[in-house]
Amino acid sequence: MGEWINFRELRKSLSFEKVLGSYGVEVKKKGPGNRHIGFCPLPTHRGKKKSPSFSAKLDYGVWQCFGCKASGNVLDFAIQMEGKDPDNRQDLREVALKLRGLFGIEAGSKPSSARTAGPPATKPNGAPRKKLPVVVNSPLDFELKDLDREHPYLKGRGFTAETIEHFGLGFCNRGLMKGRVVIPIHNTDGDLVGYAGRLVDDNAIDEKNPKYLFPGPRERNGKLLEFHKSLLAYNAHRLTWPMEDLIVVEGFPACWWLTQWGYTNVVALMGSSCSEEQARLIVSGIVPDGRVWIFADADDGGDKCAASALTQIVPHRFCRWVKLSNGQPTDCTPGDLAQLLWSV
Ligand SMILES: [Zn+2]
Repeated sequence: MGEWINFRELRKSLSFEKVLGSYGVEVKKKGPGNRHIGFCPLPTHRGKKKSPSFSAKLDYGVWQCFGCKASGNVLDFAIQMEGKDPDNRQDLREVALKLRGLFGIEAGSKPSSARTAGPPATKPNGAPRKKLPVVVNSPLDFELKDLDREHPYLKGRGFTAETIEHFGLGFCNRGLMKGRVVIPIHNTDGDLVGYAGRLVDDNAIDEKNPKYLFPGPRERNGKLLEFHKSLLAYNAHRLTWPMEDLIVVEGFPACWWLTQWGYTNVVALMGSSCSEEQARLIVSGIVPDGRVWIFADADDGGDKCAASALTQIVPHRFCRWVKLSNGQPTDCTPGDLAQLLWSV
């Protein structure tokens, strides 16, 4: 395992001008504002070489080429100049470390909420990205109102009114989240950044109607707003960091259950894998001799999830996978949990 890299901080610390300079790339200021243009220096550029198709906004650290249609942030630029793949995590790390060394940038600090990130050069399907600036996990400018906190889905599963209130849960009967119990999701600063929706009718779940619905991208004021759950740990903003013990679960209900049973130091990954950002967030929130307990669901997805969290956390903190032979952690009584915690 290498050292942690705070990519967001690194991007902010890098001077795009200096990075361009380090690759011998010259750009000239064009028009008002901070736009600079030049010949596209990318080794992958296949368009005309002798027309200034490369445009860079030095103050924002973003760029695009009208010839080869590549675009991205300052890190994407360096990766492509190195002839590497921006979608390959190892390549990304390598180039990030190189830049950090080259410009004498300190290692990243504890992550706070990830609010902005430069767009990758291409979408996962390889299509050129729309040229709108992308803002990730920006705080919402609205709140869902009139949620039904008494809905049988929640009460029927044994969640108390206190738990429902604590997590702000409620059934929504209009808009995109119609027919779902909505779950407010916050960044570590406590800003509401999105809602997940759990379909209450399990029979209605299909490809078009997923069990959990997360916010999709939306355009607002010339920006593309994106929600990335992999940059967040659900419930993290309610906890007092740093802490000695933290339980990590996959989904929302396990988090509600554990909290209701009095195990309040719990975060959910909101999926069956632990991202690098999530692992970093978890590690940074645990005192050096603290402990991380992974409660994954007792199925293949759970095993994968636990493995992805373990491999990333173990090099930095004491971390144990609390394996459940049958049932899910959500069904445990407090006594079971205490026994599990002591038996691992
Ligand atoms: Zn180009």
